[in-house]
Amino acid sequence: MTETTRSTAQWQAADAAHYLHPFTDYKSLAAKGSRIITKADNIYLWDSEGNKILDAMSGLWCVNVGYGRQELIDAATAQLKQLPFYNSFFQTATPPAIELAELLAQVTPPQFKHVFFSGSGSEGNDTVVRMVRRYWDVLGQPERTVIISRHNAYHGSTMAGASLGGMSGMHAQGGLPIPGITHIEQPFWFENGQGMNREEFGIRAADWLESKILEVGADKVAAFIGEPVQGAGGVIVPPSSYWPAIQRICDKHGILVVSDEVITGFGRTGRWFGCETMGFKPDLMTFAKGVTSGYIPLGGVMVGDRIAKVLIEQGGEFNHGYTYSGHPVACAVALANIRLIQREGLVDRVRTELGPHLAARFAELGEHPLVGEAQTCGMMGALQLVKDKSANRVFDSALEVGMVCRGHCFGNGLIMRAVGDRMIVAPPLVMTIAQVDEMVALIRKCLDLTLADVRQRGWL
Ligand code: PMP
Repeated sequence: MTETTRSTAQWQAADAAHYLHPFTDYKSLAAKGSRIITKADNIYLWDSEGNKILDAMSGLWCVNVGYGRQELIDAATAQLKQLPFYNSFFQTATPPAIELAELLAQVTPPQFKHVFFSGSGSEGNDTVVRMVRRYWDVLGQPERTVIISRHNAYHGSTMAGASLGGMSGMHAQGGLPIPGITHIEQPFWFENGQGMNREEFGIRAADWLESKILEVGADKVAAFIGEPVQGAGGVIVPPSSYWPAIQRICDKHGILVVSDEVITGFGRTGRWFGCETMGFKPDLMTFAKGVTSGYIPLGGVMVGDRIAKVLIEQGGEFNHGYTYSGHPVACAVALANIRLIQREGLVDRVRTELGPHLAARFAELGEHPLVGEAQTCGMMGALQLVKDKSANRVFDSALEVGMVCRGHCFGNGLIMRAVGDRMIVAPPLVMTIAQVDEMVALIRKCLDLTLADVRQRGWL
């Protein structure tokens, strides 16, 4: 436990003096001061001023089973006492890592029987790049190195993760992407497909992959990577035609398919993994976040039979790994978390009850004068704010209307994220129906406040 006796101002001063936060403009944060979160329970957070906040983002898309779950706390405590750390490098392993590998093979699609553990989603995607290239090398096709991704994808913040991702702001810093990674346009109907039927647009967006493969040369392309539903890019749910078409194109050219399930894994979309919701069969799946519900860091890559067979039978030593690959405490928490998801039937509950309810309530929010598009997939949702609803015309991005709305959310006890002018949620999977309604009522209130605000500023 840390000292909890300081005032908010004291925490903020020490924070500004010493702590460089992720994805932050330091000068502007120091001027505003951080919000200090001090405790949590179920779907709620409390800040250092005692305000209660509904966490509609599950922390950072990860606290799927909600805060304060005793089973996870007990699992960590027991493992810390029994064996707080040992590695899996030199002909060793620990029971929690082995048991988790076994359980993951059960809950993932049937082509997955093997896992490689990392400490985070970014590291998992670094592993993907190295493993995919190693696979083709072992098969005698070392020239197959290029990985195709999408603009506005998010795959992490390490050199490889940020390169795989398609965030222009990230590429602009540090000389990214690294060589051998190229991007196609995202399947974002609202931005790129209006005037077209959504499903036709899905096929068109998949065709961009085939054009890119032909441009690069199929014999040079190692893999395609994508999030089943883009998360950090703004909860962009692709048309249902998209992923099956992507799969057909990859199969035709023998290209590996990588599903980045860091957000969509472990029930978020109403199936165990997003690829099952979207109808495709990846060769590799990156996971993190929901595997431990964020209680402790853990990530990894599920390795499909096609790749595992080559690496195991022909690969020799794979010169790659992390100190915390298979960390016993993280694995023990993951085991407790997955068993809890199974015991409480959370995945089915998202598919049959919670997800449909969120979809219905978001469809109502879609009627709001500020909302041009409302989309959900399981327990992920997005509201696209627009200036002119009838023509789906957006605001000037420089106005940062999304940030105005986010400010109203914070001010009214709700954490909702703004991606440009797209307001997004990914709440815990343990919500009750009444809590979904509570969240939707707060969102409506904040949309109304934003509308009044925007009118008053003369932006409408
Ligand atoms: N992939 C996806 C799809 C993600 O959403 C994220 C994190 N938001 C990552 C990878 C990176 O994970 P981490 O922050 O644990 O490195």
